[in-house]
Amino acid sequence: MRLDLTGVMNTPGNTLDFDFMMDMSHVEMMGENPFTTGVHVHGQVENLLGDVRLIGEAQGKCELPCDRCLHPSQIQIDTDFTFYLTNDPEREDADRLFIEDGMLNLNEVARDCVLLAFPSQILCDEDCPGLCEICGADLNETDCDCDNTTIDPRLAKLAELLE
Ligand SMILES: [Zn+2]
Ligand SMILES: [Zn+2]
Repeated sequence: MRLDLTGVMNTPGNTLDFDFMMDMSHVEMMGENPFTTGVHVHGQVENLLGDVRLIGEAQGKCELPCDRCLHPSQIQIDTDFTFYLTNDPEREDADRLFIEDGMLNLNEVARDCVLLAFPSQILCDEDCPGLCEICGADLNETDCDCDNTTIDPRLAKLAELLE
């Protein structure tokens, strides 16, 4: 989505709403295309007495394998962003985007925010027991007979002392 901001940039008090579905199906992560459905992006650009502010929200769903058991897991992304806009390249910084010829590529801004909001760990469930390290059985579905007891090294020391 490219927004034409000429009207709002030049007129204090003006606002411009946006509301669209963003296609992120081509975005690749860990060899997969996790964005199975479109990402909903909506918000407003507002000219506050000459300072132009962009406020937006982005919501989407992704599907990626659970880090522990590898089952496909749904993740809900819900993020928001605020930037100030300027048509002076000298004033551009981390919070202030430079707008060239009054046009803003909102897809780029929203996509970066969605990717930043992506969780560092994908889990089907916080308590997912994962796969057995010895036989590979999915412990969500079955109990195997392997001895998986891992002892805290500090407790192991204590156990040694008690022997
Ligand atoms: Zn899992
Ligand atoms: Zn096992």
